[in-house]
Amino acid sequence: MDLTALTLTELRDALRRGKTTSVAATQAMLDRIVAIDNDIKSYLTVTDELALEQADQADARRAQGEDTPLLGIPVAVKDIFCTQGVETTAGSQILQGFIPPYDAFAVQRLKEAGAVILGKTNTDEFAMGSSTENSGYFTTRNPWNLERVPGGSSGGSAAAVAAQMAYGALGTDTGGSVRQPASFCSVVGLRPTYGRVSRWGVVAFASSLDQVGPFGRTVADCTAMFQVAAGYDPRDSTSLDAPVPDYEAALTGDIRGLRVGVPREYFIEGIQPEVAMAVRAALDRLAELGAEIVTISLPHTRYALPVYYLIAPAEASANLARYDGVRYGPRLEGATLLETYRKTRALFGQEAKRRIMLGTYALSAGYYEAYYGRALKVRTLIKNDFLQAFEQVDVIAAPTSPTTAFKIGERADDPLSMYLADVFTLPVNLSASCGLSVPCGFDSQRLPIGLQLIGNTLQEATILNVAYAYEQATEWHKQLALS
Ligand code: GLN
Repeated sequence: MDLTALTLTELRDALRRGKTTSVAATQAMLDRIVAIDNDIKSYLTVTDELALEQADQADARRAQGEDTPLLGIPVAVKDIFCTQGVETTAGSQILQGFIPPYDAFAVQRLKEAGAVILGKTNTDEFAMGSSTENSGYFTTRNPWNLERVPGGSSGGSAAAVAAQMAYGALGTDTGGSVRQPASFCSVVGLRPTYGRVSRWGVVAFASSLDQVGPFGRTVADCTAMFQVAAGYDPRDSTSLDAPVPDYEAALTGDIRGLRVGVPREYFIEGIQPEVAMAVRAALDRLAELGAEIVTISLPHTRYALPVYYLIAPAEASANLARYDGVRYGPRLEGATLLETYRKTRALFGQEAKRRIMLGTYALSAGYYEAYYGRALKVRTLIKNDFLQAFEQVDVIAAPTSPTTAFKIGERADDPLSMYLADVFTLPVNLSASCGLSVPCGFDSQRLPIGLQLIGNTLQEATILNVAYAYEQATEWHKQLALS
């Protein structure tokens, strides 16, 4: 049995039936990481010894008749989640060597469910980016084409799952950082409703937008990860105290009578024609499965990008103030206090500095109302667009990203073209919706395309089921990278 070819749920079955062990599966993943991650560079840290210890414990627990939802399953975690005793950098030089004394909530949940943590995956610095090129360490490569970016900021997690170096992974999605890399790497990525998964222990980027999201090679795999991570946590004041449904049981594949809205604003000029075609074909497939396709309008869509790039940098500038060499970050002593700050904060990369400056400006006296205050008002209009649309339809379908994976270096010096990679994902973060990306094809260069499905507040079960129905009716998820 080639253990690396199994999906998470297939491995779970194999473990339950005693066909293999967690130690074997963990070793298979670690061997594959050694074999191919020099080329892909999805991991910043591989915790091989710890992983094998956890796997051994999982096997021992199973031998005693125990079973938990992810018992013995090796997964990866974006390096923006605090992990007890394991370096956590958020992709930034300023956090190099930071060893958190505790696990983030989502990591705790994975461990309680019995998962084995393989290591920490690469990310754009503080999750600011769409390609992992803003990582303070190195760029991750797309397993489908090593000259291309894997997307970002959770590019390491998406690439690791796509290249079968983890059975599932955690990322975060502030503006698209789970869905967009999922789309670029042909895996499934979910951005839950804000507050569905606790942000406790996640290094903060833009606190009103940040949300934890899982990756899987299939919808069922992604759902299994999400099932474990979702839930109330009093330590995050924005955590939703809502019951957690049985998401896995909701995957029936039956979508007859479901109304699927297609926003006309999402088929804009500049979209890669092959992406639009693949998404249109996916809509036809949903119709064949019994869904009703309806054209809708989200009229404020075009404001999402400017609104996001005021709100996210504003919140980032506040969140990053703590890396001053006094509270967090290495203290690079200068002759004066100002010089100490200057030296320490020089450790930030270009994009983080850009956002700090943009955000500080937008929040400064005299400009606050004109920029930040105004952006908040338009955010409400965007949110209302979705609420109105969900009075007519059950889910919204759209492309995840306007293009397939771009070349490494191609957009690195052009922030605006980089920001455009998230033009279709940002509106979800600004609203109270949830969204996911599911593979829906390839372009002529065999680069993956993703279908985005958006649901109303806490309707994750609905979008996961639509994605599941679509996946069961197609073969895209059976194609593997590097094959
Ligand atoms: N690419 C967007 C940004 O750079 C979104 C990133 C994210 O979701 N973390 O801000």
